[in-house]
Amino acid sequence: MNGPDLGPDELAAEHEALLSFMYLSPVGIVRSDLAGNVDMMNPMAAQLLMPLAQGGELANIFETLAPVAPELRRLVAEFTRERGPVCENRRLYVNPARHHPAVLSCSIIRIGAGFLMTVLTDISRQVAAERQVRQTESWLAGIYTSVHDFAFFTLDAQERVETWHPSIERLTGFQADDIVGRPLDIFYAPGEACPGRLAEHVALARDDGWHIEECWCATRSGERFWGQILVSVLHEDGDAPSGYSVVIRDASQRKVTSDNLERLLTTDHLTGASNRAHFFQVAEAEFTRARRHRRPLSLVMLDADHFKRINDTAGHTAGDEVLQQIVREAKRTLRAADLIGRLGGEEFALLLPATTRQEAAAIAERLRAAIEQLPIETGGQVLHATVSLGVAALDESEAELDDLLAAADRALYEAKRAGRNCVRVEDVVKSEQGATESTKGDGEARPPSPSAGEAQ
Ligand code: GH3
Ligand code: MG
Ligand code: MG
Repeated sequence: MNGPDLGPDELAAEHEALLSFMYLSPVGIVRSDLAGNVDMMNPMAAQLLMPLAQGGELANIFETLAPVAPELRRLVAEFTRERGPVCENRRLYVNPARHHPAVLSCSIIRIGAGFLMTVLTDISRQVAAERQVRQTESWLAGIYTSVHDFAFFTLDAQERVETWHPSIERLTGFQADDIVGRPLDIFYAPGEACPGRLAEHVALARDDGWHIEECWCATRSGERFWGQILVSVLHEDGDAPSGYSVVIRDASQRKVTSDNLERLLTTDHLTGASNRAHFFQVAEAEFTRARRHRRPLSLVMLDADHFKRINDTAGHTAGDEVLQQIVREAKRTLRAADLIGRLGGEEFALLLPATTRQEAAAIAERLRAAIEQLPIETGGQVLHATVSLGVAALDESEAELDDLLAAADRALYEAKRAGRNCVRVEDVVKSEQGATESTKGDGEARPPSPSAGEAQ
């Protein structure tokens, strides 16, 4: 304010500066007497008060503000000191009926000599933001306390657990001491934390802003659960992540449901073999893989012998039991990477990746012999069933999966013709090259049909 040493020019200059400050100020400034009669008001004050002005009148600040703050006149009257704040940052809701009411912050300062300075600021956006934060907080509190299969926490920029939260203990049993400062893979079940997996997860989150990884997790006591781990990047300044927020969800129930659904969709209900559609889907993929990596791949067709007769003599239930036993025996004989599919009725196919023609023929023979020996108990009687098998293998030729299937089918037909309960091996013949040319998978050309590569 103006000091005692200023001359008239300087005083005028200061007055000028003060006026231009008031004029440009983003804050509403009103000067009035103690009765509220306004003698000075800047444009921002006029703008903020206009919605309250009745008939455009802004002559008295108390009257203008009376609809939203009727107590101001009394507060001023009760204020006995010469100078000082009468009220500070009082919130005035200008049009509360509107969805987003304008909110003014109002401070009244007694500036001596019987004057009041009323300072008004539009804080609508701040109030809306506060409201948003409170709403989010209440939602989060609701989630934190009522959702039991989620854990929420943050990682620091070095991807180590930074904060602990009660939801972590609820889901995983881990206490703060167990996990704070440790990398995120502390939650992975043993065997899931292969090198690079976590780094990859975080790198994908950094690329896209967030990433979800699903894997087996383990609680502190070692109990496994199917975890869905959401990592989102937190930025504070600049481009480098300042940390990460993590939500781990126990999705075991969903995993069980989807596994069950997958089983229902891919397996044959009676025998537990893959159904036809699933078998061909896998066969296509294996065929392509074998081609790409120039790896062997064999296919074996299996058909129960005189099955109609079994049905007719022992009954349909006995027939069903035979089919189940055949599949059980096949699964015992095959490796984990192999697949048995029920193509229809009493006909099955075995898909044998990374298996040569000779190996496949040996497996087929082993299975044939095992089934022949198998006592099948049904309805108080013991049956013996036999099967015929046709083997074909993918070799250097440019054949398609259909060619492989056709070759295995031809070999099966040969086995039936040869009297059943035996194995026959057939070369793959490219369909468009006609039936006379055979490929040389095992170094020996065979006539395509009739052919007999006895595998015993
Ligand atoms: P082959 O040795 O030439 O294969 O003679 P087969 O009697 O086994 O062949 P065929 O195709 O004449 O008969 C197959 C029979 O399998 C006829 C059908 O009723 C029976 N079958 C098909 N599906 C099922 C099934 O799910 N359960 C039972 N019990 N029988 C089935
Ligand atoms: Mg049959
Ligand atoms: Mg058949």
